[in-house]
Amino acid sequence: MKVTEHIKNANGKTLFSFEIIPPKKGKNIQELYDNIDPLMEFKPPFIDVTTSREEYVYVEREGLLDRQITRMRPGTVGICAAIKHKYNVDTVPHVLCGGFTKQETEYLLVDCHYLGIENVMALRGDAMSHQKYFEPSEGGHNYACDLVEQIQNLNNGKYLHDVIEADHKSDFCVGVAGYPEKHLEAPSLKSDMRRLKEKVDRGAHYIVTQMFFDNSKFFQFVEDAREAGINVPIIPGIKPIATKRHLQLLPQVFRIDLPEDLILEVEKCKTNAEVRQVGVDWCISQSKELMDAGVPVLHYYSMGKSSNIQQIAQAVF
Ligand SMILES: Cc1cc2nc3c(=O)[nH]c(=O)nc-3n(C[C@H](O)[C@H](O)[C@H](O)COP(=O)(O)OP(=O)(O)OC[C@H]3O[C@@H](n4cnc5c(N)ncnc54)[C@H](O)[C@@H]3O)c2cc1C
Repeated sequence: MKVTEHIKNANGKTLFSFEIIPPKKGKNIQELYDNIDPLMEFKPPFIDVTTSREEYVYVEREGLLDRQITRMRPGTVGICAAIKHKYNVDTVPHVLCGGFTKQETEYLLVDCHYLGIENVMALRGDAMSHQKYFEPSEGGHNYACDLVEQIQNLNNGKYLHDVIEADHKSDFCVGVAGYPEKHLEAPSLKSDMRRLKEKVDRGAHYIVTQMFFDNSKFFQFVEDAREAGINVPIIPGIKPIATKRHLQLLPQVFRIDLPEDLILEVEKCKTNAEVRQVGVDWCISQSKELMDAGVPVLHYYSMGKSSNIQQIAQAVF
């Protein structure tokens, strides 16, 4: 079922969902299942599976270091199919502009369609780790809005090489990213909102936000989006802080602000176990407030480890 149908069928009840990351190449998928298992009691209607950008690795060959490009966490579509089959839950593969040609994207979407995957998250992807700015692949998309358009074209039987009178068209429900505190490259909150509206105008059906730790930022974002004429569901994406290092890492990577009260609580902690508990408590109160405000879904960034998400879900759902 589509994410938007799950939301509609919930009749105003807040749903629980989460995002997982494919394991590193060579790792057993069982570890992923072990982290999903405890979360299934909270009945997620859908689970997101991220796609990682490629990266450079150095391989020794005849005494020389050879630079090769590789994706360290492949398997997004395969994992989506495996989880869908194992848990009978809808899955949402993240589809990136970066690292893919339009043709490769078309093949990936056709695979998803055959596998019965009905939702995709359309994202640009970040710059590769050695790049300062995002660079599209040759023959790939520049922005997520162009990817949204490709997916919508496919839904209408319009393939890259031709329009096909398909007897069984895809009908993907498309999610896109939104940034309550602005995307790091956007010149202003207002221009970023304009770009978000473009993604919706070109066919996105719902929005999932970047993580935030101050709910007032999310509430303002939703208000601004509605004022800008964006009427699709907006799903808050949240994450519990888990280590002291997150105090520097999260603002650096995502350009988000952390509330002073949270910083002070984390600074008081002597161990990462204490930090983890502070993160859980903060996320529980964030979740409860968001739920009271009537958000359609609480979407958790699990980063592959589920014990803290389980603690939060137990307190909230
Ligand atoms: C919920 C969520 C899930 C994510 N999952 C993944 C994942 O699985 N894998 C991954 O690698 N990354 C993921 N990301 C990160 C995301 O790829 C990055 O934040 C990326 O830098 C931007 O992606 P986007 O889809 O928002 O890009 P876009 O919507 O294309 O926007 C990128 C920037 O370009 C600007 N812009 C947009 N359109 C135009 C235009 N026409 N002209 C000029 N400027 C424009 C925007 O304002 C913004 O600053 C995720 C992010 C979120 C919020």
